[in-house]
Amino acid sequence: MGNWTRRAALLGSGAAVGAFATRALKSRNPSLDGTVDTTAVGGDGTLNDASLLSQTPVHKHIILKQDPGTALVEAIRAEMKDARANNRPVNVSAARHSMGGQAIPLDGHAITYDNGFLEPDTANATFRAHAGARWSQVIQAIDPIGFSPAVMQSNNDFGVAATFCVNAHGWPVPFGPMGATVREIELITPDGELATCSREVNADLFDQSMGGYGLTGAITSMVVDMEKNTRLSPSFTRMPAKEFGSAFEAALNDPDVTMAYGRLNVERASFFEEALMITYRATEDQADLPAASGSGWMSNVASRVYRAQLGNERMKSLRWWFETDLGTVVGGGDTTRNSLINEPVVTLDDRDDTRTDILHEYFVGIDRFPEFLEICRAVIPASYQEFLNVTLRFINTDSESWLSYATVPRIAAVMSFSQEMTLRAEADMARMTRDLVEGIIGIGGTYYLPYRPHPTVAQLEKAYPRAAAFAAAKRVLDPGLLFRNNLWDSYLEQL
Ligand SMILES: Cc1cc2nc3c(=O)[nH]c(=O)nc-3n(C[C@H](O)[C@H](O)[C@H](O)COP(=O)(O)OP(=O)(O)OC[C@H]3O[C@@H](n4cnc5c(N)ncnc54)[C@H](O)[C@@H]3O)c2cc1C
Repeated sequence: MGNWTRRAALLGSGAAVGAFATRALKSRNPSLDGTVDTTAVGGDGTLNDASLLSQTPVHKHIILKQDPGTALVEAIRAEMKDARANNRPVNVSAARHSMGGQAIPLDGHAITYDNGFLEPDTANATFRAHAGARWSQVIQAIDPIGFSPAVMQSNNDFGVAATFCVNAHGWPVPFGPMGATVREIELITPDGELATCSREVNADLFDQSMGGYGLTGAITSMVVDMEKNTRLSPSFTRMPAKEFGSAFEAALNDPDVTMAYGRLNVERASFFEEALMITYRATEDQADLPAASGSGWMSNVASRVYRAQLGNERMKSLRWWFETDLGTVVGGGDTTRNSLINEPVVTLDDRDDTRTDILHEYFVGIDRFPEFLEICRAVIPASYQEFLNVTLRFINTDSESWLSYATVPRIAAVMSFSQEMTLRAEADMARMTRDLVEGIIGIGGTYYLPYRPHPTVAQLEKAYPRAAAFAAAKRVLDPGLLFRNNLWDSYLEQL
């Protein structure tokens, strides 16, 4: 349901509307997280997400600021009751940085939390947080007491429950997705009950909610692991791209390596031929750690060079030199775990009303990495899209989430494209995405669900073999289909 309606909003008169809405969003309200305001309902009663291409009519959008507890639970139950009585869907979201309406209920009740409540428990190395707390708020609260989030994304704007609901990953090693670091959630189920879910209690519901895109109910609070914050020092290794998988695996066997990622060159002429591996180890001196800062001026310079790559092959070569040569010297000093992950998305903002940044992410077995490179070389440079960046990360096995993208250890490739906001570019992006997904499924890989809804339903089923079981369990838990968003409407409902 709703599939064609959403497409019509984008591809009918919506192409022009979408572009107009982008300008309005970019110039108008400062958002909860300081970036594009993905929480504002436009004057036309629509909501958008970070893609700026998901403009969707909603019945209403409310922001709840209550602490976790009775007042918050009652406010959500009231919203659920009203929605059910009028046969409308409900969806809870945080920063709405998913890119395909996964956080928007078509003609429904959109709920956003705005509350950074957090209670650390240093004895157990956990914190209890409001489901809507952002990682920037988490870091602000636990950095001064010497702790750091165990797993979060590489930017700090996202919500803690949202991170659990997409089962996001970061680049601390040797972790898998963030769900593995969650001890307990409080969830209002579709029938209005407040359920505690963990590995011991309501374990199936816990696993379905992990990476379950809010389709099991509204999470109100969570208990999450934290790690010691540490002072770290980087090492840089440049190599032919096809050697990256085995080099990365070897580096991760070193227990001193606690953060690691890779990059590939993106010039069309030599696309994905070279790799850079960056590993961080704790220094001997762990006294007097500085406050978490973010990467500061280096990030801002890097962001300018990053943007200048658009349509400019020489600049892409210059950026590769900046990263593999100059950057290793000027950006190669000691830092802390928290400073490395305390980066807002706004650093990357393109400041261009005619284009939008679109992410893709693929997960492949370490031994299949050379084949993955071949697939990308055959598909990406032939497209009309501007490819800006790829980051490579290690993802350990996730055997808990029903919609797991890492049933064995995998390398994640996070890709960033700059897309023109036109129908032509959207059609080209859809075609290219389906080609990439097809090739990557063919080598046993998967793709990430929070991005654009371009893969086919059949591709989702192949990439996520338990998707049909997840949809069946959802129908039992939520027979009235109260909790819905575009991942349900366009995909899971068809299974
Ligand atoms: C610039 C950028 C960088 C990124 N980097 C990474 C990365 O390093 N690693 C990675 O894994 N991903 C990354 N992502 C993807 C990101 O993790 C997801 O898009 C995630 O959804 C963002 O969090 P959010 O707060 O914006 O979630 P939202 O888009 O607001 O919500 C995501 C999902 O969670 C559900 N949800 C949210 N809160 C609740 C709640 N309280 N109860 C029930 N359901 C809820 C929503 O319904 C929705 O389905 C990145 C995305 C962008 C745009």
